[in-house]
Amino acid sequence: MIYRALGQTGLQVSIIGFGAAPLGNEYGVINPTVGERAVHAAIEQGVNYFDTSPYYGRTLSETRLGHALRGYRNKVYLATKGGRYGVDGFDFSAQGLATSVEESLRRLQTDTIDVYQLHDIEFVDRRLIIDEALPALERLREQGKFRYIGITGYPLPLLREVGSVHPVDTILSYCHYNLMNTTLSSSLMLFAKQQNIAVINASALHMGILTDQGAPAWHPAPASVHGAACEAAALARDYGTNITTIALQFALQNEDVSTTLVGMGTESEVLDNLALVDTLPDGEALAKILAVIAPVKDVNWHTGLRENDEPNVVG
Ligand code: NAD
Repeated sequence: MIYRALGQTGLQVSIIGFGAAPLGNEYGVINPTVGERAVHAAIEQGVNYFDTSPYYGRTLSETRLGHALRGYRNKVYLATKGGRYGVDGFDFSAQGLATSVEESLRRLQTDTIDVYQLHDIEFVDRRLIIDEALPALERLREQGKFRYIGITGYPLPLLREVGSVHPVDTILSYCHYNLMNTTLSSSLMLFAKQQNIAVINASALHMGILTDQGAPAWHPAPASVHGAACEAAALARDYGTNITTIALQFALQNEDVSTTLVGMGTESEVLDNLALVDTLPDGEALAKILAVIAPVKDVNWHTGLRENDEPNVVG
């Protein structure tokens, strides 16, 4: 495993982090024992960063992760979130966050969280995030509920703006640095580096699009993006590999990212993915795949408040 600094936190985190959305059955039903084995396999292979949220499986992911981490808590850094609880369920109020943290601590079976993040801030007025939610997190941090504060979401300009107005330790961006989209590099990375804010790159498989099984039905990308990914997957197979391998090899090359979160629900996914640390993609296959993806490269979709949409939004 390779470890990198998580911004200025002092934590050294594995370059692959365990994304626990699949433990909440977000990508299909996972047998709890199988999911637990995936968590243990990841720890055995040196993964020390685990990311979850009450939103994933409406608390199921946190509950399962907390169960799986019994006896392992001191081997890992644990990141969870507050503010988002359903597809349309948000509560970024100070009182709501205070309650949510307590519930997360209980489900995660721990007395402190390492990184606590506001989940998908693009869905509410940014003044609520800046004036109420982030100050509330500062107070909860002082009470020892967690050690570091982060924000997460989809539109990069909003993440940059909020991170510049209120100090945060981490910014989690998803679906903005992988084979389909690399705008994280141009839109956020320089700012984050200057501020010494850790960048966490989530969804290196573009929320399942860059897999042979394809994306879940709820995936928000336009059809053109799914189509190009299908073509890319076929190309990878022609080269005797698979699109997931090339996608992870590609994403892991970015040394400005502290950790790349990959959603994993089985031991075999964990072992396949961790075997890719410190390996390079087949150059010819990668070039052909990038050419197939080029017409839809950097396409963004709408999510959250319209005012937070970034350029290049389709739909
Ligand atoms: P992802 O891009 O990591 O894709 C996950 C899918 O890929 C799952 O279906 C998984 O089973 C599959 N997969 C993983 N390895 C595989 C392999 N070797 N072969 C075949 N299939 C494989 O998407 P994600 O899980 O949504 O993102 C990663 C994590 O990042 C999440 O679990 C979550 O922790 C975090 N995240 C946070 C936010 C946010 O805070 N707003 C948004 C998205 C993701």
